[in-house]
Amino acid sequence: MQSVRMAPIIDGLLVVLSMLNNVQFVMSHPTHPGNIGAAARAMKNMGLSQLSLINPKQFPCAEATQRASGAQDILANAGVYDSLDQAIAGSRLVVGTSARSRTLPWPMLEPRELAEKIAQEPSTHPVAILFGTENSGLTNSELQLCHYHVAIPANPNYSSLNIASAMQLIAYELRMAALKFEHLETASEAEVDPGELPATAEQMDQMIKHFEQVLESTGYLDPVKPKMLELRLRRLFGKAQVTDSEFRMLRGILASIKKFE
Ligand code: SAH
Repeated sequence: MQSVRMAPIIDGLLVVLSMLNNVQFVMSHPTHPGNIGAAARAMKNMGLSQLSLINPKQFPCAEATQRASGAQDILANAGVYDSLDQAIAGSRLVVGTSARSRTLPWPMLEPRELAEKIAQEPSTHPVAILFGTENSGLTNSELQLCHYHVAIPANPNYSSLNIASAMQLIAYELRMAALKFEHLETASEAEVDPGELPATAEQMDQMIKHFEQVLESTGYLDPVKPKMLELRLRRLFGKAQVTDSEFRMLRGILASIKKFE
């Protein structure tokens, strides 16, 4: 008798895909409600559930609901924010997707590398993956909030995908990585020394502002000619993956400089 290959049961509770619950997809200024619906469907197909919308042109909207098909729950639970900072405040890893690299050269990852990196980090780390507005993509100031940039290696002569298609591909890679590393025992955030957790986007923001204040008073920063200081500092601290305790140390150092003046 011919043996029948049994399909593995990969859904349901047999596989713990908790990592997927901690990844937030953020759409910045989406202009077409159909894309929001298609994105929700793409996410739900891959087991993702956290969608955030920054200033959507139209939302809620019948077209979005229709395109979401059976994924209306993702739309119903979507966070709607006025600013990106609010949406990503608690995120410990922020990633920007872009068809092309802009501004200063930035640490880049391929979608698969990103997904495998996330799958191997503590499963409860909040991660935000940012997607730009349909016409112009993420702005330079949005891209500079990110630890990494991810480009889907598409046809170099025609590399810009529809946003929901780009979200589908990233979501697929996340799911594949979650399945590949399902047996890996990643620590939960509660088990990690709190000082060793990566600084959140909100802490990073506070630290950059603090640096700017102090460096302006020491004369290093000329606000008229900032020479991309903010961008360079963000890239530096992002690459260093500053931890919570390092964040506190740097804030303390800055405060001591201020007192010394
Ligand atoms: N013309 C814009 C593209 C906007 S497409 C530009 O050149 O940046 C809308 C969004 O889809 C992008 O901001 C990005 O989030 C995602 N996207 C499209 N193509 C992509 C690619 N090749 N790699 C990664 N993200 C992509």
